[in-house]
Amino acid sequence: MGTIRSIDPANGAELAAFEEDNAAVVEHKLAMAAAAVPLLSAAGWNARAAWMRTAADLLESEIETVSMLITKEMGKPIAQSRAEVAKSAHAMRFYADNAEQFLTGRTLENPGAVNASSAGTRFDPLGVILAVMPWNYPLWQVVRFAAPALMAGNAGVLKHASNVPQSAVYIGGLFTRAGFPEGSFSSLLISSRRVADVVRDPRVTAVTLTGSEGAGRSIAATAGDALKKVVLELGGSDPFIVMPSADIDAAVETAIKARMTNNGQACINAKRFIVQADIYDEFTRKFTERMSSLVIGDPSDPATEIGPLATESGRREIIELVEDARAKGANIIAADSDNERASGWYFTPTAVTGLTPEMRLWSEEAFGPVASLYQAADLNEALKIANGLEFGLGSAFWSTDTDEIDRAVRELQAGAVFVNGMTISYPELPFGGIKRSGYGRELSMEGIREFCNLKTVWVA
Ligand code: NDP
Repeated sequence: MGTIRSIDPANGAELAAFEEDNAAVVEHKLAMAAAAVPLLSAAGWNARAAWMRTAADLLESEIETVSMLITKEMGKPIAQSRAEVAKSAHAMRFYADNAEQFLTGRTLENPGAVNASSAGTRFDPLGVILAVMPWNYPLWQVVRFAAPALMAGNAGVLKHASNVPQSAVYIGGLFTRAGFPEGSFSSLLISSRRVADVVRDPRVTAVTLTGSEGAGRSIAATAGDALKKVVLELGGSDPFIVMPSADIDAAVETAIKARMTNNGQACINAKRFIVQADIYDEFTRKFTERMSSLVIGDPSDPATEIGPLATESGRREIIELVEDARAKGANIIAADSDNERASGWYFTPTAVTGLTPEMRLWSEEAFGPVASLYQAADLNEALKIANGLEFGLGSAFWSTDTDEIDRAVRELQAGAVFVNGMTISYPELPFGGIKRSGYGRELSMEGIREFCNLKTVWVA
């Protein structure tokens, strides 16, 4: 078995190392998960909600330790780690409060129409769900699966990203500490090569993945072969369109946040800024000025706004994307010239203009603090650029013209449209994509129903 290492991306130092789970340990965790399913069902809504609220309380009481763990392990600025912990606790309480109502089946008003005395639907748990999750929101990505899954009465096993084993161990133990039956939720410390075996295991009934297209294809193929349900949340290159009637200063401020949050490593970061020609120069000037004012540094310093990228390979990929664009004639505007720090996987915030379709940056996702700026003659061209890729996760549209807004909301090919704002995931709203950004939905009522058996009940 290999070793899974936690490395501080700010300086390359090893923080912790874990032995991979061997086959016997994986077997034990799967058996415990399967054994927990009937216990979770028998416990009922109130007990599950009480355990979930205790988990939220625990998380909040440990906010300082958990935030620092996230920041040290993947480089997120500490203020953003605290926000991630708080949001995760909120989502737990949201599902504790709402799961029962979301999963209330319906009763047919006229059962005689189907020759029954009564008929309707109910939502039953599916069993053990496997979650394969990424490192970029090491807590939130897991909670947005775990909270609804557990509240529905499912058990969960997590295969977390290999660079965040400390987060995996923490979240893997949180729910049983809060009172959920042993085995209800646990982390498998395994490499991605061993995921297919877990997908095929007969005790695993469904799979959810948040990650890259490649991982999505591989997991969907295995799950398809085993005829198991899958939800996929994959990459994105979200458009952020700005029209002349918009409040430009507010648009710039939000655009910076939308692109640079999480050191630019979120699937729903706005990545392509498509600006109408009359305001393009003003937007670009203000965007690059504001970008240059961002505080880059040690992510554990509360003043830091941009920390290092989470992995060395991620940094290398961003450099390659930007250098490819430069070599093909794009204009690269970097926030500072210090892109070669003595240690750590830093990449300075960068804006790129003059993009053409031959450049990789035109069509590939930039998972780092790199903004692509496009000029569009009018709304037609803006929508054409926005919809021109195979991604379809989130989108943002800035305008005060109601006709333009109506059209953009209708025509943007994405799982979400945020008007005069930026794409954010909220427990209260469904979240997911179309096209190669994946399928299925997380969060809200739609998310908790994904991993349930919608059972039709007919009584003579
Ligand atoms: P990866 O797909 O490499 O990793 C995500 C998870 O999948 C990890 O746990 C990883 O394990 C596992 N994994 C990778 N390959 C396989 C495989 N072939 N079979 C089974 N499991 C696998 O993604 P990144 O770490 O590169 O994360 C960034 C990507 O995720 C971006 O494209 C981003 O847009 C997307 N993402 C999407 C989100 C959404 O909600 N739609 C949210 C956040 C990110 P291991 O680490 O061991 O390789």
